[in-house]
Amino acid sequence: MKAMRDKTFSHEDQAFVERLDQAAQSHMAWTRRVLRCALLRTSPGDDVLADDAHDRCDFGLWFRRNRERFDIIDAHTTLHLEAHHQRMHVAVRSICRGVLAGAAGDPSMLEEFERTQTAVVADLAHLKTEFLSHSARIDALTGLPLRYGLEEDFLRYCASAQRHGERVVAMLLDVDHFKRVNDTHGHAVGDLALRHVADVLRSRCRSGELLFRFGGEEFLALQQVPDAGAAGHAAQRLLQGLRDAAMPLPDSGTLGLTMSAGLAESGRDESMASVVDRADKALYQAKAAGRDCWRWAREPD
Ligand code: GH3
Ligand code: MG
Ligand code: MG
Repeated sequence: MKAMRDKTFSHEDQAFVERLDQAAQSHMAWTRRVLRCALLRTSPGDDVLADDAHDRCDFGLWFRRNRERFDIIDAHTTLHLEAHHQRMHVAVRSICRGVLAGAAGDPSMLEEFERTQTAVVADLAHLKTEFLSHSARIDALTGLPLRYGLEEDFLRYCASAQRHGERVVAMLLDVDHFKRVNDTHGHAVGDLALRHVADVLRSRCRSGELLFRFGGEEFLALQQVPDAGAAGHAAQRLLQGLRDAAMPLPDSGTLGLTMSAGLAESGRDESMASVVDRADKALYQAKAAGRDCWRWAREPD
């Protein structure tokens, strides 16, 4: 199996992470604003005192614009962050208004401020960690998830299949004679071809089937199927999909591509590494049989 190309971190990803860091810092800076307000009895500013300050602050505006992205990363923590952020604004507003009106501070509001500020910073840190680990698992070339960290998901996937009385089949797919594509058309066209293959596979996968870039010109599809026959049909469907979809070349003409596949049904409590290893051996058989075909793996020992 070929080593993966390095994952590149897009500018957009980088900007998102920087904005998360900035949000944590600016909300920590609120402690200084409250302190100034209390000691000097000066206004902390309209963006603190306004009733809808949580929607008007820099973070609030950016958060609402990027809400969908936050939800994708972790919807549960996003809800917490939203609530903590709003409560923190309410607490700070109440403290500062009281101080400006010459009233004594309310200890319960101060505690609420401290609690929610700590929660906002913790939520932001959690979302950052989730985002980084998620984006490190997406292949920059094809947009497909990488297999890293998949072992745990695999066990959950198998348990869910079992509950539904279904089996899990791993299908390892490898583009035929891909080295020739690079040698004949250059590496850039090779990259386009890999994207093309990924798009075809993605469009031919059904809901519930999981697709990964396994490495180099190899892809892994995981499926829950009622019987072995269904997995065979799925393999036909993917291989036929690529046969039918010649890739337009950048200058002129088209490039026909095929792939071979090895299928292995997961045994009870079998590790993902072991299933994929058997699928790899079946893939080798498909290559030896002339390529553009698929083979079943032997049962686990
Ligand atoms: P087979 O039918 O036996 O699979 O032959 P093959 O030529 O596809 O197999 P081989 O494993 O010898 O070659 C795979 C090639 O895939 C070699 C490697 O340079 C190329 N490759 C791996 N990753 C990438 C990539 O990200 N971009 C490009 N352009 N090429 C890649
Ligand atoms: Mg290969
Ligand atoms: Mg190949």
